[in-house]
Amino acid sequence: MIVAKAWRGKRYAVLGLARSGVATVRALVAGGASVVAWDSDEARRDEILPGTGRGTSSAGGGGIVPGVALADAPLHHQPAAGGPPPRAGEDLIVAPLDDLSAFDAFVVSPGVPLNTHPLAAAARVAGVPVVGDIELFAQARADLPPHKVVGITGTNGKSTTTALVHHILKTAGIPTLMGGNIGLPILEQEALPEGGVYVLELSSYQIDLTQTLDCDVAVLLNVTPDHLDRYDGFEGYAASKARLFAMQSAEHDAVIGIGDAPSAQIARGLSAKGEHLTKIAPGVCMDQSSWPTLQGPHNAQNALAAIAVVKALGVSEVDIDRGLVSFTGLPHRMEQIASYGGVAYVDDSKATNPESTAPALAAFDRVHWIVGGRAKGDDLDACKPAFGHVVHAYTIGEAGPKFAEILKDSMPVENVGTLDAAVRAAAANAKPGDTVLLSPACASFDQFRDYEARGAAFRAAVESLA
Ligand code: ADP
Repeated sequence: MIVAKAWRGKRYAVLGLARSGVATVRALVAGGASVVAWDSDEARRDEILPGTGRGTSSAGGGGIVPGVALADAPLHHQPAAGGPPPRAGEDLIVAPLDDLSAFDAFVVSPGVPLNTHPLAAAARVAGVPVVGDIELFAQARADLPPHKVVGITGTNGKSTTTALVHHILKTAGIPTLMGGNIGLPILEQEALPEGGVYVLELSSYQIDLTQTLDCDVAVLLNVTPDHLDRYDGFEGYAASKARLFAMQSAEHDAVIGIGDAPSAQIARGLSAKGEHLTKIAPGVCMDQSSWPTLQGPHNAQNALAAIAVVKALGVSEVDIDRGLVSFTGLPHRMEQIASYGGVAYVDDSKATNPESTAPALAAFDRVHWIVGGRAKGDDLDACKPAFGHVVHAYTIGEAGPKFAEILKDSMPVENVGTLDAAVRAAAANAKPGDTVLLSPACASFDQFRDYEARGAAFRAAVESLA
């Protein structure tokens, strides 16, 4: 467990008791802080303090985190003023607004939309910072053995690049762990020995909840429109990514993909200040043939970013090469799951927007493209340059009818509705040498719990063909 001395005697409110929230509560309590915890789900509250559901208790309660107090009712953002009751999912920690200032910080999960959630407004009024577990990790760094931190952000490619950096470091014999958006909650993990490297995948929401993380190497892969429901427009989203570099001290390294205007602008800003910066230009031609799981132009960008990171950390060329060759890739990112009769079946369920689908289409010559779900925008324009690679499209989910309409002048397309039907139709049409590709360019929530469940359903449908 990772704990900061700075937490001793402080008072925290932890909102959201999923896995990282529980890890946060445990770490804060172990660090000598007093903690009030809350989750709108009674089962999760019960896990912290069994049998109480929502009763207040402190010191030595029988829950998994002794000593933690559960709020005895949800916090209303302005109970005294008689404002509107909280909406579903918006109940907070108990306390009248006046008492909120008694907290040193609110710790929330990145899933809480700060732009609309009443907690953020209440915290501003009370002058209390709203932070996430990455900020708590940043506070604990002074008490850890000497180490380095790599922070990786971007709209697409974060997980791949994070896992790749971690893998190259491990191959080179450097103690390392992954945290943030990937792997186990950071505060739950064992601190690394001296010389270790923490590799953090950071969504923009996590950056928004972080104030003092000075990364030794900070990476921005790209910024394209996504998650705009959580920001005041694209500029707000891009500004969130820029904060990763604003938190960095000048002598530390930055790695920035300059394939889009906002990223290039952030890079120009850093160059102007004379900071240590490696720019990754788009469309670099290089031999990726010995990196089986790093195919396609997007993975060239991810690999170049990872190489720049580990070079900045002093890893040798030989170790870098060994890491690139032996990287096994991540599930649901252009993962080849089967090959029947010369037809490859590739799961790219993680591609939840058109920008991340485009490189997957470009990576294969004759694609049977399964696309659709809950659309994040109104078009598939980002995929247009790769339409020539598609021999047939099969649309599914909420976006199915609209996407079929968009695609019909560019390729044969059928709105088949479900993933099962799409796999059957594609298998019937595909010829040896073709690729059946699930790269939906959409969120999964209309038909699946998440992109992982969608990938698992694709695998089941493909395996049933055998
Ligand atoms: P993230 O963690 O940022 O969501 P992943 O590494 O999980 O990114 O990749 C998600 C999807 O985005 C992949 O399926 C791939 O198609 C696409 N992708 C990966 N890297 C890039 C990149 N550098 N640029 C554009 N798209 C990418």
